[in-house]
Amino acid sequence: MDNGKIRHGNLKHEPVPLAIVGGGAAGMFAAAVAAERDLGCLVFERKARLGAKMLMTANGRCNFTKDIPVETFLRDVGEPVASWVAPALRSCPPQAIIRGLKSLGVKLRRMEDARMFPDSGQASTIVHAFGDLLRDSGVPLCLNCPVTGIQPVKNGFIVGTCNFTVWAQNVLIATGGLSFPKTGSVGDGQEFARRLGLATESCRAGLTGLEVADPAVKAQAGARFEDGLARVIDSEGRTVFSSRGEVDCEAWGVSGAAVYNAQRYLSRHGARGSAVEVEFGGQKLTIRRIVPRPLKEAIVTIGGVALDEVDNRTMMARKVPGLYFAGEVLDIDGPTGGYNLTLAFATARAAVCAIAARLSANRE
Ligand SMILES: Cc1cc2nc3c(=O)[nH]c(=O)nc-3n(C[C@H](O)[C@H](O)[C@H](O)COP(=O)(O)OP(=O)(O)OC[C@H]3O[C@@H](n4cnc5c(N)ncnc54)[C@H](O)[C@@H]3O)c2cc1C
Repeated sequence: MDNGKIRHGNLKHEPVPLAIVGGGAAGMFAAAVAAERDLGCLVFERKARLGAKMLMTANGRCNFTKDIPVETFLRDVGEPVASWVAPALRSCPPQAIIRGLKSLGVKLRRMEDARMFPDSGQASTIVHAFGDLLRDSGVPLCLNCPVTGIQPVKNGFIVGTCNFTVWAQNVLIATGGLSFPKTGSVGDGQEFARRLGLATESCRAGLTGLEVADPAVKAQAGARFEDGLARVIDSEGRTVFSSRGEVDCEAWGVSGAAVYNAQRYLSRHGARGSAVEVEFGGQKLTIRRIVPRPLKEAIVTIGGVALDEVDNRTMMARKVPGLYFAGEVLDIDGPTGGYNLTLAFATARAAVCAIAARLSANRE
């Protein structure tokens, strides 16, 4: 079909300019940017619907970014991730994401601490806005369609599924991390990368609770303390990281934003010799044996495609021209508060802009 008419005559077998593997936050954003630029693409999504993980974010409310200057955002993300994501973030700062969602007709709410949500209080408002844009732009969506293999060929890649293959000039892998595998992110992208000769960093839990065998904590299971504090203390007793925010008591230990950020710091920077001090409700708790909750329960995956395998200006694999990555499949992560979705969006945009430039350079 072409403009609603059936095209007769010689049909040529041509590659799709871009195949996007994964219809989560990064994949949907990438498809939206591609549609905006008239760049032909199709999206493969393992699950029967787009954005399953995004629907879970912030307890279904979707804290999609933080409305702060990009340099403050990068400082909060911290090294080694901040320097790597800086070019993508500077091209697609939180304010550009806010403008983009407003242009899709999504009413937004800014909290006192600058966290941004859809005004409806429903993550589905944002997922539907992306879905509507892709439908109206005619972007083909292959739902319920896990990609099973990606093979480089002379003019691009063959992208395989259980039932058919597609020839694509460029492939963007946006398959996410490994947490909450029921949302579809099961580590396929990291496996595709390894099979294509790229190194990956081992995947571990980021932004998750810490287990504590303390009867006083267990006795308070279910209690939430808004103004808590979690500190990471090194082997010489120095505070190397601190995070103020919610602390929640659980039957197995402690959770909440302050604890999550401290756990992420430990996981990124190594836990040897460290302890975590958690303050809440007049009780100070010192955790010396650090046992994070499992990866499948984590908000974010630390680890993934190694950053030195990928050019951070284009998101293209250095060893495999035409192969791109965006979002949590990469070894990037941020603290709680809208940082991780922002990183997914910004890296997706950087990839699509680079793909558009590559396609136009190939045409010239
Ligand atoms: C409980 C929870 C709450 C969170 N809250 C927030 C929040 O409030 N703010 C925030 O910024 N971040 C939040 N996050 C983190 C955020 O959701 C992720 O960082 C973000 O979704 C990552 O986007 P992504 O596109 O890289 O991966 P995903 O959103 O996980 O998308 C990957 C997609 O790829 C698909 N896929 C995987 N393999 C294949 C394959 N072989 N073929 C086809 N498709 C495939 C998956 O089905 C999935 O839909 C939260 C995470 C969780 C778990």
